[in-house]
Order: sequence, then C-alpha cells, then structure tokens
Amino acid sequence: MVLVFHDVTLSYDIQQTAKEQSTMLNHIIEASMDAIIAADENSTIMEWNAQAEKIFGWSRDEILGCYLHETIIPLQYREQHLNGIAHLSETGQGEMLNHRVEISALHKNGKEFPVELTISQLEVKNGSFYSAFVRDLTEIKQTEQELKLAAITFYSHSGIVITDAKKRILRVNPAIESMSGYCAEELLGKYPSILKSGRQDSAFYKKMWQQINETDSWQGELWNKRKDGSLYAEFLTITAVRDYSGTITNYVGTSYDITERKFAEDKIEQLAYRDELTNLANRRLLLDRLNHEINVAARHKVYGAVLYLDLDRFKNLNDALGHPIGDELLRQVARRLIQLVRAEDTVSRLGGDEFVIMLPATNKNLKKAGVEAGSVADKIKEHLAEAFDLHGYQYFLNTSIGIVIFPEAEEGADDVLKHADSALYRAKEEGRNTSRFYKPAMQQDADARLQMEKDIRHALHNDELSLHYQPQVDINGHVTGAEALLRWQHPQRGMVPPDEFIPLAEDTGLILDIGRWVLKQASLQLAEWHNMGACPNSRSLAINVSPRQFHQAGFVEEIIDMISAAGISASCIELEITEGLLMDRLGDVVDKLTQLREYGVRIAIDDFGTGYSSLSYLKTLPLDKLKIDQSFVRDITTDSNDAAIVDTIIAMSKHMDLNVIAEGVETQEQLDFLHSKGCEVFQGYYFSKPVVAEQMLNILKNDVISKK
Ligand code: C2E
Ligand code: CA
Ligand code: CA
Repeated sequence: MVLVFHDVTLSYDIQQTAKEQSTMLNHIIEASMDAIIAADENSTIMEWNAQAEKIFGWSRDEILGCYLHETIIPLQYREQHLNGIAHLSETGQGEMLNHRVEISALHKNGKEFPVELTISQLEVKNGSFYSAFVRDLTEIKQTEQELKLAAITFYSHSGIVITDAKKRILRVNPAIESMSGYCAEELLGKYPSILKSGRQDSAFYKKMWQQINETDSWQGELWNKRKDGSLYAEFLTITAVRDYSGTITNYVGTSYDITERKFAEDKIEQLAYRDELTNLANRRLLLDRLNHEINVAARHKVYGAVLYLDLDRFKNLNDALGHPIGDELLRQVARRLIQLVRAEDTVSRLGGDEFVIMLPATNKNLKKAGVEAGSVADKIKEHLAEAFDLHGYQYFLNTSIGIVIFPEAEEGADDVLKHADSALYRAKEEGRNTSRFYKPAMQQDADARLQMEKDIRHALHNDELSLHYQPQVDINGHVTGAEALLRWQHPQRGMVPPDEFIPLAEDTGLILDIGRWVLKQASLQLAEWHNMGACPNSRSLAINVSPRQFHQAGFVEEIIDMISAAGISASCIELEITEGLLMDRLGDVVDKLTQLREYGVRIAIDDFGTGYSSLSYLKTLPLDKLKIDQSFVRDITTDSNDAAIVDTIIAMSKHMDLNVIAEGVETQEQLDFLHSKGCEVFQGYYFSKPVVAEQMLNILKNDVISKK
C-alpha cells in the first residue's frame, strides 16, 4: 500500500500525474492520526510516518531499516511474531491480517502501551510488503478502566448520593436504598434533608456547609432517619465537584453505616459510666464531671454544689422486704430525682442507697450558691417524703443530705465528695430528714434563714409588721402623695430592714400573706386620712408589689376587693412594680396591668433604669409613671454617666407621656439638677425620711414640707 513503483519509461504527462499522486499519498500518510508503518517480509521497517514517531518515540531516521521485532514489539511477543511471519510466507495465511486487533506495543522508552492494529499485505515483484495502521489506546483504556472502577464503586457497600449544584438528588446507589429504606425513585429530585433525623441541630449543618464552601469537602458522623422512622448513624464524606471553570456542578456524598458501632459505643459508655440498676451516672462519671466543674468554677470564680443523699433506714427495708423491693425503691427514687433537678444537674448513684447530685457552677455569689443548694435539698426531702408504691405496699422515706459548695479551697473531686459525706454524717447524727452544710458558716446562714422564715411567719400573726410612709413632693415642697414602706419590729433583733426579709419572703412564698397584709393596711390608712380630710383624691399612695405577688392568680381581684372594701378611689392607689417583673410571662402581665388601669389604679415602674427594659416594649405597656432609681440620683452631680442616664429617662418619659419621679433625693444640688432636666416630683431624705402614720398625717395636714 505504501510503496508505489514507477516505470521510468512512462511519458512526461504520465510522470507528472504520478508525481502528483505520490505527493498526495505522502501527504495522507504524514497527516494520518494513526501511525502508519510499512515493513518487508523480513520485518525490516521501510516506512514510518510522523504519528509513528509520536507514539513510539523513534524518529524516522533512527528506525528505518531496523527490525520490527527488535524495536516496537514487546519482548514476550517477538517469537510469536517471527513464527507468524514465517507461517505467512509459507502459507500466505495470517491470523492477524485484515482485521482490527488490540495488542500491546513497545515504546522507545521501554514502556508497553495498548494499541489497535490493522495489518494488510501487499504482494510486489520481489515478495510481499506489510503495512500497519496503529492507534494508541492508552487514553481510551484509562477512561475505560476508570469507568469500570466507578461502576464497581457505585455498586459497592458504601452509600453514594450525587446531587446537582442546588443539592437536589440526581443519583443514589443501591447501598443508599438499603441504608435508608427509600427506593431510588423516592429520593431522586428531593433534597438530602429528607433523611434528616433532627439529632443534629441547624448549627451543625451550618458549620458543615460552611466547611464545604470553603474547602470543597467535609467528613463526619451524623444520624439520619430511615423511611420507617428509625434512626441510623453514618460516616459521611461530602465532596464538591467543580467543572473546568471552577463552578460547582455536583456534590457527591459517600457514606457507610456506623449504627452498630454507635450502639456498641453507647453500650460501652453505659457499662463504664452508668449505674446498672437505675441508669443514673455512676461514681466514675460523677467524678469526671465534678473534676471538670471544679476547674470551670475555679477559672470563672463561680460556685457549684454537691448534695450527698442517704435514704434513712433503707437497710431495714431491704432486710425486711427483700432485695427486689429494695431495688424497686432505688429505681423510683432515681426517677423522682431526675424529674426534680434541671437537665444540667448530674444525678448519680454511688452504690447502695447513696445518691449524689451535682449542681454545676453557675453562681457568682457564694452565699447565693448556698441558698440555692439548700433549697434544692429541701425540695428533694419534700418529694422523697411522699409515699412510694412498692408493689402495692406504701412506703414512706426520710432523706438525709450533706451539702458542699465548691470550690472552697484547692481541692479535687474526691475531696469534695469526702466533705459532702462528712456533712451527710452530721445530718444523720442530728436526726432524720435533715440536711447539713459542710462549712459551719454556710450552716449558720442556712440556720439563720430557717430561723428568719419561722420568725416572719410569727411576725404576721404577732403584729410585728407596720407601715411607714415617705412623702412625695413637688419642687415647692407641696405633698403630692406618699409611698408605704414595710417595717418589721423583731422582738429580739429590733428593726429588721425590708431588704433583709423581703427576698426570703419571696423565696418561701410568705410574701403572698405579707403583701396582702400591706395592701389591706395601706388602703385602710388611706381611707382614714381621706375621711379626716387630710388626703384629697389628688394625692396618691404608692404601694410596693413583689413579682410573686403580682403573678399570683387572682391578684387583680384582690386589689379591686381591697379598694372597694376600704371605700377609697382607685386613682389614689399607685402600684409600684419592678422592671424584672416585666421580663417574665409578658402576656399575663399586660392583661393584669390593663385590667388594673381600666379600674382606675395607677402603675409605676420602680427602680427604673436598673433593669433591661427595652424602650419599644415599654411603649406598649399600660403605665403611668417611671421612678428613677436612687442609685442614679446619688451621684448625679459627680458622675456624668449617671447624669446622662437620668437626663435620658426624663426625656423619654416626657416623650412617652409618662409621669416621672426621682427617689433618693438627699441634697439641694440633686434637686436642682433633676428639676433643671424637667423632673417635677421627688422623694428622699432631703424632704423627709419614711415616718410613722401619725407623723405622715401631720405632713399631709401641713401640705408643704420646708426643705432642710
Ligand atoms: P424601694 O421601693 O426602692 O423603696 C425606697 C427605699 O429607699 C426605701 O428603703 C426608703 O427608705 C429608701 N429611701 C428613701 N429616700 C431615701 C434617700 O434619700 N436616700 C436613701 N439612701 N434611701 C432612701 P426601705 O424602706 O428600706 O425599703 C427597701 C426596699 O424594700 C424597697 O425599695 C422595696 O423594694 C422593699 N419594700 C419596702 N416595703 C415593701 C412592701 O410593702 N412590699 C414589698 N414587696 N416590698 C417592699
Ligand atoms: Ca418602691
Ligand atoms: Ca425604688
């Protein structure tokens, strides 16, 4: 095919045409995308085109005249080649002739590579010629191999999800179908979120996608939900696929099921960290968490608590009714404890009837931490004192509790537990159903609170409470009203200031009785002054209302009853509530305030500026007055911040059409400043301290208070 022999006797024309044909042929050979090689019957290479140079690495000059089997035929095929050629020349038959075969060829650099080969034979005068067309298959074979691999991978045990750039599912493999319980048709076109279990929060997914956006990939464990609603855990790798321009075209998620491993891990955790009987934390987990919490506490200067519980006479029950019943009681105790405490508290069982509760370190104030731990202990005792039903048998239980506040000094979890245990020992010594603090000072505080609680109960019934009154005046000293302030004359301790007993009364709920008493006393007093002509309806009496009192059901009715029983005008009563009260159950608060105002009662916000009221919602509340907190008034003339705050409060109240009063006014300078900013009503020692009712009556009668 390649070599064409010309007869030199041909005429010029014919010569000319032959020349042109030869040029054309040469061009075709050189331009061919396949290697074109010609060899004689001895396998001597006679023709070698440009593409042959390229795919075999030999130049034409180097290779012409060389043997095929010494250059481009791989070693292992050389013998076969020579045999084939011999056979061919003997019989004129060759199995390689005239069809395409795939074989491997040898590059000049010694590497074999796949080629497609067609050989044809051309008989010439002196024998025969062979020509070969050779196509390099390296790339095609590689792609084929990759596709084969991809197919094997796609049908592997790993789950594969392919989505488009908008995260819509394009393909899933059979492993995904068996993992998720959905068939492919149910998933195509959907988003992978169809598999969400809810076990991971939105922050988890946000972080995941953030990482994919930044690095094109993410790896991690997560829980998904099967079609039947059950959960499975998977280890997932997500990879973003980009096209040549860098634009994301697909996301590929590969995953494998790790549910069993997860369950195994849980089981191991369970064995290592849980009490088998109650499923509470065991000693090891408690110590872990406690150690951690002690470090947190020391670093942030906050306090937590450990409560060490022991069920009184548990041993007797166990002996008398048998271990199964004893175990049942322990399980029920565990359940009650879990229900009682907050999620962040740790309830553990150390063994036997010993339970330990850890309250995490969140309290900045040591005393408060003590008070809180004490009240948790009280709550526990109270709840565990309720009857247990042990297979129809009613059982009553007392609990002793030792309490430690940590950290008190440098100490580890073991020390804290030891101290709690020794406090427990003392609690048991002092009789059943008690709790004891490890630190004597803490215990004294707790005792004092307990004593105070008893004393307040007593005070109510023993006429030890009274009201004092502090006048409120305008800039000229004219009395516009008064505030009723509670006083407690303690038989031993003398006058106890309200700041000392009102918080305790709030905690214990005694404030409800006390508040009721204050309301009644104040309204009767107002009625009396009114009837004496000392208190016209233009004057008002401010009464402090505590949050618990306000939130109590029936509060509005109580106020209305009190006003009508006393026969006074509702507009003479001004209730002082604090900002803190507005933070909680706002709907209920607004309802109550609205009803009260509709009835005519006025509402003031006490200690204004110390809370976190947002202006926008203050505007929506039915209010009459803001009472600037005395802490701002105190330094108003020396502290520019305080001055600015007061200025703002006054401007704001004008803007919102509210009255404003300043309390704690002690000096002429404070008064001048407040007045210059537009405040018109004042209360403070500068005019008068809180006084008893008779003195207040005189002040009301005089109408004007002359400044000191
Ligand atoms: P509060 O409602 O802010 O009462 C104002 C407090 O400031 C009163 O203290 C009053 O005596 C004091 N005060 C008045 N003028 C001046 C002054 O010029 N300078 C200084 N430094 N202080 C002044 P008090 O009577 O000790 O009452 C303390 C807190 O106890 C009250 O603060 C109020 O929150 C609470 N409270 C008093 N009575 C009652 C009541 O009947 N019920 C409730 N729930 N709380 C009450
Ligand atoms: Ca007040
Ligand atoms: Ca106040």
